[in-house]
Amino acid sequence: LHDVSKIYKSGDRTLKVLDSISFSIDTGSTVSIVGPSGSGKTTLLGLCAGLDRSTNGTVELHGKRLNGLNEDQLAAVRNQYVGFIFQNFQLLPTLTALENVMVPMELRGEKNIKSRALDLLDKVGLAERGHHYPTQLSGGEQQRVSLARAFSNQPQILFADEPTGNLDAETSEKVVKLLFDLNREAGTTLVVVTHDLELAAKTQRIIRIKGGKIVEAS
Ligand code: ATP
Repeated sequence: LHDVSKIYKSGDRTLKVLDSISFSIDTGSTVSIVGPSGSGKTTLLGLCAGLDRSTNGTVELHGKRLNGLNEDQLAAVRNQYVGFIFQNFQLLPTLTALENVMVPMELRGEKNIKSRALDLLDKVGLAERGHHYPTQLSGGEQQRVSLARAFSNQPQILFADEPTGNLDAETSEKVVKLLFDLNREAGTTLVVVTHDLELAAKTQRIIRIKGGKIVEAS
């Protein structure tokens, strides 16, 4: 990110959520973004992942400048490089766990998606729950389905927004292990937004933001 700002507008009111943020993240590294509630962490993650656009400044992902891309090009970059774990899982309620994991692969027109989705569910310990709908799963199980879905394109960069939020200690440990295994085994860059300081301490770098600015970066 180079000198990135984000301003939200609603009616005649504007809110500057991010103010001249610059940093870079090395391929294969692990980084956490921490800061108080409302400080702009989720917004920042969305900009890094190409889910949203900055108001000013430039964002580059894997050497590609995202600013000039149209929606289709942006989606193509996301499909190729990015996995994203949302704060509130964002599973599709009318699809089963297995179908949710299959969606990204289906969209990319890939083959053998059912058996691959089953393998991914197995990896997160949910092989037996493929036919369950999100409402039939606990919060931790939904989070693991969302992890399996995020893993499905073997992302080079995984962005995770509060991956352990609302999980009990044991489930949280499992989820954290899955994330770091992916980093170690596949070299996936891991960028995590978290309030969980134990999780943050496990990453190689911590970027702390407050009031839309970086106040500390290791
Ligand atoms: P938390 O830790 O509580 O999840 P956060 O640090 O992730 O917070 P953001 O979700 O990035 O914070 O929100 C930063 C600020 O931007 C908040 O004041 C929020 O109300 C505002 N905001 C977020 N999204 C929008 C939007 N789409 N339109 C207007 N304001 C928004």
